[in-house]
Amino acid sequence: MNIILFGSPGSGKGTQAKMLSEYFKLKRISLGDILREEASKDSDLGKEIKKYMQKGHLVPDGLVSRLIEENIDEEDFILDGYPRNLNQAIKLEEILKRKSLQIDSFIYLDIDEKTVTDRLSKRWVCKKCGANYHLNISSQKYRCDLCKGELVQREDDSPQVIKNRWELFLKENRKLLDFYRSKNKLVEIEGRGSIEEVLRRVKEKLKCQKH
Ligand code: AMP
Repeated sequence: MNIILFGSPGSGKGTQAKMLSEYFKLKRISLGDILREEASKDSDLGKEIKKYMQKGHLVPDGLVSRLIEENIDEEDFILDGYPRNLNQAIKLEEILKRKSLQIDSFIYLDIDEKTVTDRLSKRWVCKKCGANYHLNISSQKYRCDLCKGELVQREDDSPQVIKNRWELFLKENRKLLDFYRSKNKLVEIEGRGSIEEVLRRVKEKLKCQKH
């Protein structure tokens, strides 16, 4: 099973991708994580990537496609955060063709701007283990429940950057959905509700598709 999980920033795709990868035994390939890892390095590539991420802009397609190609090696993966526009979807087709692989489902987590803004502005991430928390706090007095690490807000979760990311998402998403709809791969899922509710919806759809 090779799937793509798509949704706006704050749609919950990172959380769902982690849970689905465990449940269906899929390798999770998160482009956001790969980019954050690169951006934390003091290399030229790291600095270049950081420039785009800090503003909420997309990192150039050629560069991210190269990183994706390096990370896809065999069947049974879940792609989180790629493709994000039509050009990336076309590049992905080329990558998969070279590796004799193909996508089974493109899952779209559908969610509204108000829910997204609320979720992202209250998102705190553990600096040590990466766990996510939804908190009504403005200070760093809380610690991670799992590892007691420090909780921080992502630089790109500031109000202006959230707005940029949402607008960019709206601009690109229709073309991408049309692309996968025309290939009969689009699976639309209501993204509001608890993590468990959304997970149950996705699992049901995917299980139906397997049979
Ligand atoms: P995410 O964690 O998925 O919200 O991604 C964080 C940031 O990484 C985005 O705001 C972009 O700057 C960059 N990024 C993530 N995915 C992509 C992509 N498919 N293409 C280009 N840039 C991306």
